[in-house]
Amino acid sequence: MGAESIITGITRGGTVWTPQFVTALNEEKCIGCGRCFKVCPRDVLTIVQRAVDDVDFDDDDDDDDDGDNSFMTLTNPLDCIGCEACSRVCPKACFTHAELPLAA
Ligand code: SF4
Ligand code: SF4
Repeated sequence: MGAESIITGITRGGTVWTPQFVTALNEEKCIGCGRCFKVCPRDVLTIVQRAVDDVDFDDDDDDDDDGDNSFMTLTNPLDCIGCEACSRVCPKACFTHAELPLAA
């Protein structure tokens, strides 16, 4: 019965699935690579410049396209459809997702 109050979707083939909406983005871990921005279909994200004092020069495990002085923010979280594309491409596991109730 509880599942009825959770937001669900349905595929073209009729399979029900549960969107996992973005609830947080760890800006401290973010390296500003922009991958999530490129794949998000809903303009949920915006990349911003990091203040000079906050630039993280520890790039020991950054293997490519490091934005280094930028980070991603959640600017339109209510437009998220819970597709999880952002997390699939994020090299730093910055995103937190959750299913949400219909009346949130
Ligand atoms: S879950 Fe999908 S819609 Fe939501 S922020 Fe990530 S890519 Fe965008
Ligand atoms: S994919 Fe991850 S590390 Fe890259 S900009 Fe997005 S949140 Fe930051």
